[in-house]
Amino acid sequence: MLKLYNTLIRKIEEFKPINPTHVGIYTCGPTVYREVHIGNFRTYLFSDFLRRIIEYNGYKVTHVKNITDVGHMRYLEGAGHHHGPIDPIIEEALKKGKTPQEIANYYTRLFQKDEEKLNIKKADIYPKASEHVREMIEIIKILLKKGLAYETDGTIYFNVRKFKKYGRLSGNTLDKMDNLLKAVHVSLETDKKESIDFALWKKAERDRLMKWESPWGDGFPGWHIECSAMSIKYLGDTLDIHTGGEDLIFPHHEDEIAQSEGASGRKFVNYWLHGGYLLVDNQKMSRSKGNVYTISDLERKRFDPLAFRYLTMMTHYKQKMNFTFEALSAAQTSLNRLREEVKNWDNPKIGCAEYEQRFLDAINNDLNMPEAIAIVWDLVKSNYPTTAKAESLFRMDEVLGLGFKKYQISSFDNASDKNIKYQKEEIPQSIKEMIEKREVLRKRKRYHLADQLRNKMKKMGYNVIDTKKGVEIRKIKRKD
Ligand SMILES: [Zn+2]
Repeated sequence: MLKLYNTLIRKIEEFKPINPTHVGIYTCGPTVYREVHIGNFRTYLFSDFLRRIIEYNGYKVTHVKNITDVGHMRYLEGAGHHHGPIDPIIEEALKKGKTPQEIANYYTRLFQKDEEKLNIKKADIYPKASEHVREMIEIIKILLKKGLAYETDGTIYFNVRKFKKYGRLSGNTLDKMDNLLKAVHVSLETDKKESIDFALWKKAERDRLMKWESPWGDGFPGWHIECSAMSIKYLGDTLDIHTGGEDLIFPHHEDEIAQSEGASGRKFVNYWLHGGYLLVDNQKMSRSKGNVYTISDLERKRFDPLAFRYLTMMTHYKQKMNFTFEALSAAQTSLNRLREEVKNWDNPKIGCAEYEQRFLDAINNDLNMPEAIAIVWDLVKSNYPTTAKAESLFRMDEVLGLGFKKYQISSFDNASDKNIKYQKEEIPQSIKEMIEKREVLRKRKRYHLADQLRNKMKKMGYNVIDTKKGVEIRKIKRKD
């Protein structure tokens, strides 16, 4: 039984999907105007573990992850708030002499490449906000018709006071107006009825680069409305699961609920899951401190991105995670050690039911990945035969996503000759002597002669593989 912590009810509860076999997940994706940092990737990794665990439990999953390429207005760090919020994609485009589309496409590709490096499964759909403006306008029209929104000179605001259930996710409810007022960003939009109201649609400045026609004149959508429009379009009025970082609970997700439920009259999301913050050296990441790291930063420091994936498993997804390079080094060492273990394992046969059950219990207990990793180590250190360890670990790896299978030598497929497979066999004395001779030649840097010997052994039916740990010999088996 899969149990998940639901932010909406602040409790762990049993997961019951709307459709008994098929689960829909919506994850708030990146705003694509610069490289995505490791704090965001921690959240995407958590969503990936969630998706894999749901699949491990036998469900099919449709995962939607949006690309925000318009409307996510931000206050630039250091610029001071008197400038008002800017659209960072347009800002970046103007700076680089590119179009906003070019900037968005470039960083979307980088994001997806980084996801691949982290072995995050591709979402089934990556809808772009700029391609769903029509759907957003439709929802805004309904909200206006229902009296939940109002227009002020080409800009549409959501009338928060009219949506009585407002604030249930974050606790910033209408009956605690002081809290709510404190939580909303102090805004320069003076044309609102109340400062707790938020924009659904904004009137475009005269020379704005990205704008669309609407019944209210040229403009562009707010950030929150895009997630309502795209999640409903691809997953229906009620979603099983919506994920994001905990910084999105308010106002982004609160406002998504108000818009979606306001328009559809139905419950928007059954399970809200939020990932905790990532700190660097116990401090908040910030560009002025220079501690905002990206995946390419980690690679430049010669880390395998999968070491970061491993590291995120060491902290429960809801907890604050403190990133340090010492911790990343330790994760890299652990990962390397597991890869070394796997290397000499025999081909998978019957797994270890005991460890597989413990693993399942851990992941189904609100994604307890730290415990799952501990169980992996128990399994690896156990006295079970390597055939059993291989069977169980490779199965667990469907959730871990660390790609262990390719480190097992006996599973290698020879790239040059598809008919050759390697297996552990008794090695005859004559071959052993040739191996030793070859090692001497290699030490004397007589590589040409060493290669000749290797070829000779190959002709005799033995393959020589050089690894970090030493030389591996495999008898070549011809497939019939
Ligand atoms: Zn969102």
